[in-house]
Amino acid sequence: METLESALALMLSQAQTVRETEDVSLSAALGRVAAQVVLAPVQAPPFDRSPLDGYCLHSGDIAAASPESPARLSVVGEACAGCTERFHVPEGCALRVMTGAPVPPECDCVVRQEDTDEGMNTVRVFRPVGHGKNVCYAGEDVARGDCVLHRGEAVTAAHIGVLASLGVTRVTVYRRVRAVLLSTGDELVQPGQPLTYGQIYDANRAVLTARLAELGVEAMALDSAADEPETVARLLEEAARSADVLITTGGVSVGKKDIMHRVLPCMGARRLFWKVAMKPGSPLLCGVYQDRLMICLSGNPFAALACFEVFASPVLRKLAGQTEVSLRRGKGRLTGGFPKASPGRRLIRARCEGDCVHLTGSNHSSGSLFSMIGCNCLIDIPAGSGPLQEGDEVEVILL
Ligand code: AMP
Ligand code: MG
Repeated sequence: METLESALALMLSQAQTVRETEDVSLSAALGRVAAQVVLAPVQAPPFDRSPLDGYCLHSGDIAAASPESPARLSVVGEACAGCTERFHVPEGCALRVMTGAPVPPECDCVVRQEDTDEGMNTVRVFRPVGHGKNVCYAGEDVARGDCVLHRGEAVTAAHIGVLASLGVTRVTVYRRVRAVLLSTGDELVQPGQPLTYGQIYDANRAVLTARLAELGVEAMALDSAADEPETVARLLEEAARSADVLITTGGVSVGKKDIMHRVLPCMGARRLFWKVAMKPGSPLLCGVYQDRLMICLSGNPFAALACFEVFASPVLRKLAGQTEVSLRRGKGRLTGGFPKASPGRRLIRARCEGDCVHLTGSNHSSGSLFSMIGCNCLIDIPAGSGPLQEGDEVEVILL
């Protein structure tokens, strides 16, 4: 049986990043993974500019200024943000500037207007300002040639802002990962259809489609399938043609209807491993079909979702081209107890806020999906732990 870590490592070793790239506009780049580094083509800001309303001048001219004996300078003009005129400011002179206005190279500081008499033709300055003070220098945010987006990095809103500030309009990203999603089970009915006694609504298709969308994956969510190995095998073979990865739920345990063990050989897929030493989702089955990973999750909704987060999500990030794929971990103190002992490793749902870890909901069974609402982490309880008490320090996997 694999551990969480060995199973994940095996899966990642089989996951090949998509090769195709595409050029997208900046506004379409959010969440996409950069396929090329972006070096700043220009500097930002593009020119020395004033960060406040005042006067730019030569600091030496006001070195001895005080309220009692102000320095008196002639004002050569006025520049606001957007002013394209190039002023020359000789010694003994000042240029009235508003925030964002260019500061000519001969000026080495800006004095705030509050420290002057705000004069129009001549200005009286009441205090000195040091050399180089109150000027935003060209390139101080980003120098030309700086790396502003790394290959393998997911594009964030902040990246988009920086790229826009540099005049960049397009980014080369990996194409989106395409995943096939299939929930299996004779009992499954799609929402909107009437339920007969013994049937349940297919929650996995909905929740995993939503998670795939959140991760920027193109999901091909098939209609749920009955527990017939041949049918499921044909459906997956057909859908696999246009997919990078296959994700299924249901039918991986040891029961009569646990068909996925027959589906893999029926498709000619190779089994990578079966079973992981953890609850929930221990019967996780993983295979490879024509170089594509098959991630077969247990049907219990929490088991499916927890295993999706710890196994499928890193795999999808790697397929998508992200270089950072490891699980993010944290630590915190429990604000309530968990009464069950954990002879084996167990993941339970919780919400991490600061260094507090609150259990979400009261039903921790793997068939319950409700306690997933508000959950932002999974507490990773090591095998051999007793019941957990309020105040215990726990390790969490952040979602
Ligand atoms: P299985 O993994 O097929 O043995 O299913 C385990 C449990 O999860 C059973 O109670 C199933 O009815 C339930 N289940 C399976 N698939 C789904 C699904 N797509 N949505 C909600 N519950 C499911
Ligand atoms: Mg089943």
